[in-house]
Amino acid sequence: MTNDGVRVAVRTRPISKKEQQLGSKCCLVLNQSRAEVEITDFKKQEKDATKKFTFDFVYDVGSEQVELFKELGIPLLDRAIDGYNGTIFAYGQTGSGKTWTMMGNDEKPGLIPQLNADLFRRVTDISTGKDEGGEGSESTTISFLITVGYVEIYNEVIMDLLNPSDKKLVIRESPDKGVYIQGASQVVCKSESDVMRLVNQGSAVRKVAATQMNATSSRSHSVFTIKVEKRTFEKTEEKTKETMLTSKINLVDLAGSERASKTGASGDTLKEGAAINKSLMTLGKVINALGDLSKGKSVHIPYRDSQLTRLLQESLGGNASTLMLAALSPADYNHDETLTTLQYARRVK
Ligand code: ADP
Ligand code: MG
Repeated sequence: MTNDGVRVAVRTRPISKKEQQLGSKCCLVLNQSRAEVEITDFKKQEKDATKKFTFDFVYDVGSEQVELFKELGIPLLDRAIDGYNGTIFAYGQTGSGKTWTMMGNDEKPGLIPQLNADLFRRVTDISTGKDEGGEGSESTTISFLITVGYVEIYNEVIMDLLNPSDKKLVIRESPDKGVYIQGASQVVCKSESDVMRLVNQGSAVRKVAATQMNATSSRSHSVFTIKVEKRTFEKTEEKTKETMLTSKINLVDLAGSERASKTGASGDTLKEGAAINKSLMTLGKVINALGDLSKGKSVHIPYRDSQLTRLLQESLGGNASTLMLAALSPADYNHDETLTTLQYARRVK
C-alpha cells in the first residue's frame, strides 16, 4: 500500500556535453509510460548490476517543462484554490536538475513561474466571474489575496531572502496564524510580475556556496511560499455572509543530497553537510512516518527535529498534497549517488 498523500516523481537530465567529451556512459533506462527506472552499475558483474524502481511519474531526457507542470503543478493548484496546502520538494545531488525543474529559464520556465502564471490567470477569471467554479451567482463575489515569502535554511538557520539581514529568524506557532516565521517578509502580490520580481530578487540573494562538483550550486534549502486567501461573499436579502479559505503552496529547492565525502568536504563544509543531512534525513523520516500513519499505525512524526520539517509541518500530511521530485544524473560516474537518490525516493512511497 502506498502513501496517498505523498507522490513521487523522478526526472533525469541529459548527459552534458562535458560528460560526453569525458566519455561518460548513461547508467539509466527510463520508461515513462510504465513509470519505471532501471539503473545499471557498470562496475559490477551482470547478474546484480541492474536494479529497477517504480514511481508515480517518471520523466526522461525528452520531457518538457510544460508536461511536468500539467501533471504535477496543476493538481496542486486545483487543490490550493479549494483551500488545501501543497508542497513540491526538488531532491537530488548537486547538478542533477533541481533548480532547472523548479525555475527553468525564460525560454523554458520551470514549475515556479508556470504555477505563478496559472495562479493569476485563475484568480483573475474567478474574481471577474469568467470562471465561476460552480459556486458563483449574481449575489456571490469572490476575491483573492496572494502573499509571497521566500526563505533559505542554511545550517539549520533561517534567513529571509526578501529582506536579508544577519538576524536569525525563529519559527513560532499560534492558534490563529498556525506555524510561521517570526519577522519574515510576507509580500502582497497583485500580479504575476510582482511575484516573479520577488522570486528573482530572492534567488539572487540566495546564499551560494561553491562545491567541487558545481561552482554555482547551493548547500542551502530554499522555501518559496505562495499563500492564497480566497474570500467568498454571499449576499442574501438580510446579510452578507463571508467565508475564507487559506492555503499555502510551498516550492522547495533542497540542498544537494550528495554525501560530504564526494564533494571533498572538510572543516566548515563538513558541518554544513551535517546540518543539511539533518533536514533531509528528518524530511525522509517524517514522510515515512506519514506513510505508516496512513496505514493505520500509531506513530510519532518527528516534525520538530529539523527546521525544514517544522516550517512545513502544516503542509505535510493531513489533507495536504506533497510531491517529492527526485532529480537524477544519468552519468555512470554518478551511479552511486543516483542509486542513493532512487532509494530515498522509493522509501518515501
Ligand atoms: P541542481 O539545481 O540540482 O544543482 P541544475 O538545475 O542547476 O542542478 O542543473 C544542472 C545543469 O543541468 C544546468 O546547466 C541545467 O540547465 C542542466 N539541466 C538540468 N536538467 C535539465 C533538463 N531536464 N534538460 C536540459 N538541461 C537540464
Ligand atoms: Mg540548484
